[in-house]
Order: sequence, then structure tokens, then C-alpha cells
Amino acid sequence: MSEFKLDFQDTATAFADKTNSELKEKYRLFKMLNSPLLNAIGTRTARFALAVGLPVEGLIKSTIFEQFCGGETIEECEPTIRKLGNANIGTILDYSVEGKATEADFDHTKEEIIRTIDRAKNDPSIPFAVFKVTGIAPLGTLERMSAKRKLDGKSQAKCERIHSRVNDICEYAFKLGQPVFIDAEELWIQDAIDRLATEMMEKYNLEQPIVYNSIQLYRKDRLQYLRESRRQANAGGYILAVKLVRGAYMEKERERAAQENYESPIHDDKAATDEDFDTAIEYCLKHLDEVAFVAGTHNEKSVHLLAARMHELGITNEHPYINFSQLYGMGDNLSYVLARHGYNVSKYVPYGPIADAIPYLIRRANENSSAAGQVSRELELIQKELKRRKIG
Ligand SMILES: Cc1cc2nc3c(=O)[nH]c(=O)nc-3n(C[C@H](O)[C@H](O)[C@H](O)COP(=O)(O)OP(=O)(O)OC[C@H]3O[C@@H](n4cnc5c(N)ncnc54)[C@H](O)[C@@H]3O)c2cc1C
Repeated sequence: MSEFKLDFQDTATAFADKTNSELKEKYRLFKMLNSPLLNAIGTRTARFALAVGLPVEGLIKSTIFEQFCGGETIEECEPTIRKLGNANIGTILDYSVEGKATEADFDHTKEEIIRTIDRAKNDPSIPFAVFKVTGIAPLGTLERMSAKRKLDGKSQAKCERIHSRVNDICEYAFKLGQPVFIDAEELWIQDAIDRLATEMMEKYNLEQPIVYNSIQLYRKDRLQYLRESRRQANAGGYILAVKLVRGAYMEKERERAAQENYESPIHDDKAATDEDFDTAIEYCLKHLDEVAFVAGTHNEKSVHLLAARMHELGITNEHPYINFSQLYGMGDNLSYVLARHGYNVSKYVPYGPIADAIPYLIRRANENSSAAGQVSRELELIQKELKRRKIG
């Protein structure tokens, strides 16, 4: 049997729907992100300028926002949905408003998430919806719930409202048969999120995977958690649905552990995270009859490993329980090549008011600037394509 290989260096496919000028623009932005100094200056200046009301929204919108977000509203995302759809890549509309604090804000965000589920209805180019519990819940209450601290009357009422917002979203998704991801966040609130997600799976995943919890494999305890979740689902007679990710809050987690003097929950090195991520993939493949999963990653090795294992095990590329997913603006070499080979692949397309999307953009900028990070990979690929088109 010939060796299985997907060519993720195929930049003609990866950038097929980018015009020359779009490609050059992407190159300029990633070049800037690749400089830790420019990156740091850029993110700090943006934060400051927005905080004091300087008119920088236009500049942000035409640069970093356009690369990583679909627009400010669902309507503004329509061209992106179509473009990705034409390449057989699904869109996951991700309403990226973070840092809100009032009950009215949380209700508003819940309504917007429900609109994304509505938009997804009957549209194969939007396979999943997604939300963050912190978008619809106060941090303090989630923290108290996670610490299993006794709640006073006021906190209890807030807790009930969180529960009903999460349930409203998942119930709506269930009624429409439209799967929804619940993102994973920081350790000190994740226990509350896990319990909510598990309850929703128990309720809505009896026939098909509707609610997906997210598992961050940079945490030392998550492989074990994945195994326990599978056993619990099996005993409860529902389908476990999980989105596997490495984890986006490493620095913050380590800082907090150091400050509060507890052992860091994060693996000591990248190799250990990588190993757990790939073991989690193997575990889900082994239990494919009862686990639906999404590999949320830009790591070429992990993506290739999953595709190769599917091939070895004789699992069809379009198996409904196996999905690949990347973030908009990143990992196009993976998404477009996977889609061309018939795998289920989708991209998070964040959207929302520019000022509210800043924390998301800063996470992407920081992630992209790390030495061994995504950006050098992205830059290399863009350069290769510019050369291939004889314009770079
Ligand atoms: C579709 C999708 C959904 C996502 N959803 C979530 C979510 O719900 N919650 C969330 O937290 N993140 C989420 N992420 C982000 C994700 O967790 C990663 O931050 C990001 O994708 C980079 O990891 P990678 O696997 O793509 O690539 P890689 O570049 O191979 O890995 C980078 C990651 O490895 C880990 N790492 C790096 N250095 C070290 C080290 N020294 N020690 C230990 N670990 C290290 C970190 O997690 C880092 O982000 C999502 C990503 C995608 C693509």
C-alpha cells in the first residue's frame, strides 16, 4: 500500500480564492505580526487608542480585523460564508464579544447566538454554531460555581439565569438539529462550564451530537477527563461530543498558578501537550461509535496524523463524527487541502463590533508572534505562493 500523504504545501489550493492584492495584504500583516516588537506596540497602541476614544476603528477594521474576522454583523459575514462555502469549507459564526458585565449584555449576547443558529438552519455551509459561556455569564459567578463555594441568594439567582441562557441556546440548537460548540476557557471557571456542557449533552445528545464540549489538552488532567466523560456518556446513554484543542490561555494559567501558589495545570512543555492532543485523537477514533469529535487545530502534524489514521482504519473522509476546524485567517493550507479531499472542515468566523473583538484579536496576534508560532509557517506559505504567482 502506498504511503498516505496530504500535501499541505499546496499553496495554489490554499490561496486559490485570494487575489494578488489580498495575498500581498496578508503578507504585510503577517510580516508585522512576526515582529514581536511591532506586535507588542500594535496591540498596546490599539488597546490604548480604543480606550481613550481615538478614531482607530477604521484602521483596525481594514487591517487585522479583516484578516481574522468576517465583519461586524452576520450580514457582513455573508461574502465570507459564500467564499468558504464555494471551497466546501463550513463557516462557524462566532460572535466574539468579550468582557461584558451586565445581565442586559448577557441577554443580548444570548439572542445574538440564537440568531447564528437561525442563520445556520438548513444551510450546509454553516455546520456548527458556537458560544463562550463568559459571553452570557458573569465571571465572578462562574468562578464561585467552579470553586463549589456556597452561593448566597443573589449569586444563586445569577447562577439560575446562566443555566437558563445556556439551556435556551442548546434547546434551540436541538430543536433545529443544529450542532453547537461550547468553548473552553480558563481553569478557574472551566468546572462550571464542564458541568453545564455535560448536562446539556445528557439532555440533547441522545440521538445525535448536538452539544459539543471543548477539551484543552495543554492541561495535565484533560486526557483523564476525556476518558471519564466517555464513560459517563456511555453509562448515561448519550453521545459524547467534544472539540479537541490545545488551549489558548497558557500564559494566563501559568501566571495565576504562580501568583496563587498552586501547581501549574499546564504541561511543562509543548511536546507533552502535543502528545496528549494526539493521544486524545487516537482515543476518540477508538470510540468512534460513541464519540463525535472535532480536531480544532492548525498543527499540521496532528491534522495529518488524524487523516492518516482515518485512512489506515478505513474510515471515510466525510465521516459525520469527525470534523477538522481552523480559525478564519489561519491555517488555510490545511482547511483548503482537507476540503479538496472531501473531509469535513470548517472555520470559526469571528464577528462583532470591532472594539469588542479586540481581546480575540490580541490573542491571535500574541499567538502568531510566538517564536515557534503559526506566523512563521503562514509567512512561509504566503511567500511561496507569491513566488509561484511571480509577484513576490
Ligand atoms: C476551531 C478552533 C477552536 C478553538 N477553540 C478553543 C477553545 O474552545 N478554547 C481554547 O482555549 N482554545 C481554543 N482554540 C485555540 C487553541 O486552543 C490553540 O490556542 C490554537 O489553535 C493553537 O494551537 P494549535 O493546535 O493550532 O497549534 P500549535 O501551534 O501546534 O500549538 C500551540 C499551542 O500549544 C500549546 N503550547 C505552546 N507552547 C507550550 C509549552 N511550552 N508548554 C505546553 N503547551 C504549550 C498551547 O496550547 C499553544 O496554544 C481553538 C482553535 C481552533 C482552531
